[in-house]
Amino acid sequence: MDIGMELTYLAVGVVGGAMVGVGNYVTERCGFHLCHWLKERQLVSRLSRTRCSELCAHPASNACTVGLPYVILYWSVARSWGGADGFGRKMSLDIDLTYICLFTWAAMVVHDAWFYLVHSGFHWHKPLYTKFHALHHSNGACISALGTAYGEAVDVGLCFVAFHAILFWVLKGLPSWNLPAVVVLISFEVATNVTGHCGYQLPLWLHALVTGGVGLTPFAATSRTHYIHHLDPRVNKGLYFTWWDRLAGTYADEHVLCLKARQGGPAPSCEQVGYARPVDSIVH
Ligand SMILES: [Zn+2]
Ligand SMILES: [Zn+2]
Repeated sequence: MDIGMELTYLAVGVVGGAMVGVGNYVTERCGFHLCHWLKERQLVSRLSRTRCSELCAHPASNACTVGLPYVILYWSVARSWGGADGFGRKMSLDIDLTYICLFTWAAMVVHDAWFYLVHSGFHWHKPLYTKFHALHHSNGACISALGTAYGEAVDVGLCFVAFHAILFWVLKGLPSWNLPAVVVLISFEVATNVTGHCGYQLPLWLHALVTGGVGLTPFAATSRTHYIHHLDPRVNKGLYFTWWDRLAGTYADEHVLCLKARQGGPAPSCEQVGYARPVDSIVH
């Protein structure tokens, strides 16, 4: 065994995983404060009024739930590609915007199908749901950008990291791969996921910006669709798009609590929106 190369593979895993974990944490923070800034200027509004609508920072989730599975992915990718001879030699650093856009959008379409499949599996099979996905839903619709990563590492591992493992397996068969395109894909993936958990109806320009333009497509998922999924977990299981939900008959564009919020009705209790966590863990 070459100890030097083994340490290099480990370093690639730790640095890569830490960058995604820290990136997720920073994006959550920026998303949370941006929503507040926009709310103070009455440019956005909460999708439903809840008494526990702004809560629960989970900084540890970014390390354990997001960072750790990516450490394992990047370590195993570096190891299977043979370090500098394979992984590094095939890597391109070209900033080709056309290629980066096409790569990102194509990957999002494929990832959306994968995400829909795995996410639906969690909701379809009760033991899987209880073990791996129930924690993510335990806040009900009392969600904010700060709780995006809240959940099980296996949940993130299967919904997100496993897709990237398949992606790297495909890239391995190509003559070269583009690091900036992979970084852009992960950045928009994180931003889209944070948007889905912000709990605010965002203007189209902002949604388009944080989703890398995908938010402008006719069947794009929005902060509203994933928020409704947290109000009613039977619907809206897609990540970037709604077409799989529409085909499966599980798409919902409206929820009675969102409707009431727009009409100025009374705020429902935390229990009414599915909040199942101890009250003393609420951070307002
Ligand atoms: Zn969610
Ligand atoms: Zn779910």
